[in-house]
Amino acid sequence: MIVTLDLGTTSIRCLAIDRLGNCIAIAQEEFKQYFPNTAWVEHDPEEIWNKTVIVLQSVLDKITRPPNGIAITNQRETVVAWERSTKKSLYHAIVWQCRRTADRIANLSQSDKNRIKKITGLIPDAYFSASKIEWLYQHIPAIKEAEKTNNLCFGTIDSWILYKLSKSAVFKTDTSNASRTLLVNLNSQTYDQTLLELFNIKREWLPDIHSSNSLFDYSNASITGTEIPIHAILGDQQSALYTQCGHDTNRIKNTYGTGLFVAASTGNKIIETPKLLSTIAWTLNNKTTFALEGSIFVGGSAIQWCRDQLNLINHAEESDTLAQSLPDNDNVYFVPALTGLGAPHWDSSARGIFIGITRGTTKAHLIRAILESLAYQTKDVCNIINQSLTPATSLAVDGGASDNQFLMQFQANILGIPVEKSSITEATAYGVTAIAGISLNLFSESDFRNFFQTTKHYQPMFDKNKIDVYYSKWTEAVKRSLQWS
Ligand code: ADP
Repeated sequence: MIVTLDLGTTSIRCLAIDRLGNCIAIAQEEFKQYFPNTAWVEHDPEEIWNKTVIVLQSVLDKITRPPNGIAITNQRETVVAWERSTKKSLYHAIVWQCRRTADRIANLSQSDKNRIKKITGLIPDAYFSASKIEWLYQHIPAIKEAEKTNNLCFGTIDSWILYKLSKSAVFKTDTSNASRTLLVNLNSQTYDQTLLELFNIKREWLPDIHSSNSLFDYSNASITGTEIPIHAILGDQQSALYTQCGHDTNRIKNTYGTGLFVAASTGNKIIETPKLLSTIAWTLNNKTTFALEGSIFVGGSAIQWCRDQLNLINHAEESDTLAQSLPDNDNVYFVPALTGLGAPHWDSSARGIFIGITRGTTKAHLIRAILESLAYQTKDVCNIINQSLTPATSLAVDGGASDNQFLMQFQANILGIPVEKSSITEATAYGVTAIAGISLNLFSESDFRNFFQTTKHYQPMFDKNKIDVYYSKWTEAVKRSLQWS
């Protein structure tokens, strides 16, 4: 049995998963989102820790004997600063969505931007950890004080929780999380001294980097009753990628949550493209697998926006029936650049647009255009992945909005490949569970692949000509949204 902590952006979940892949206990706690300024997002690290303990103890109480291991998957890039001696956080965590350091990144010289891309595989952006760490050090006096006494730790959420949960307070992270800091060399998987200097960060403030399936430490028995090995850590999107595709480089996965996270494993090769992220998928027993990823900032959140701000619907599911009530989009397109555009455009000044509206346009058209925009954004990223790898033969989907049948069928139509939704509802939690379970010999990788079947196949229904006509209109709409700044 593995007990897995899924430390998400809005909630903490804990699952107990047995050696046959059954989830036999689950607990969840939401936590508060802080928006102290326009486009700033923070979390309280102490609340995240307290709720982690609540869900962990609740799941341990529900199972009859101690689990073989604990696995951790987490929201990536978000930064916590804490005091080494007291284990207390020194400020709120700065969340991956937070744009407070956008100007700092925009003002980097072109040669620094090129260097960052070359070393880290990432497109320089406020989304990653480095500029958040720099901001915290420069603005928070308590953090500077802790530095003076050699007492300062910065880490992503995995490191923070590992530090608090482990019996020896180990200061570690795994390669998949480290690769999202903007400070790590993709080839050597170590911190790059020139990038540390660029962001005024000292190496000793940061955790040591380990294989994703390492024995990180044992849990503190005063929290978990007995000492349990903490045996795997993976960033959330990498964990979902492991579940959906494993080492198969002919499949792309897309997680339709708040944002859309499209990724494909590229095996032991680092594939470089100017507009996508080359990143670490996982390191198993010191052997690293790489991935190409496109992070799209607005996905399901566009549906939330039309529910909560536009009041067009009461529940996200209504969007499915409304969109299906129309034979086509009647030439109405929407570009969801509500916080600029992420991959593959990377333009924070782009703004959202509806285009093609006439007197005959109804609420259903607007909703349909919003749902279609998720599929088009996915196609933008998949096209680049397909140019860089053998073209994908299917798209594996998960996340809240993958329940939307209209969206999934349209996605298959516009991509021209089948969309497959499996019986796994917890793709994020299962990936890291798998690497822990395999390392602990509870099951093999092929056992893991047999835990689930594909429950829904969406076959593509558009011919090439139809795809081209629709997609060229989308591309035109994006161009106009990029011009609007
Ligand atoms: P996260 O993990 O990012 O919080 P989830 O995977 O829980 O996201 O998915 C929630 C998102 O999916 C919300 O933004 C919501 O608007 C959207 N969503 C959920 N169900 C549907 C649906 N049936 N149709 C469209 N969007 C949906």
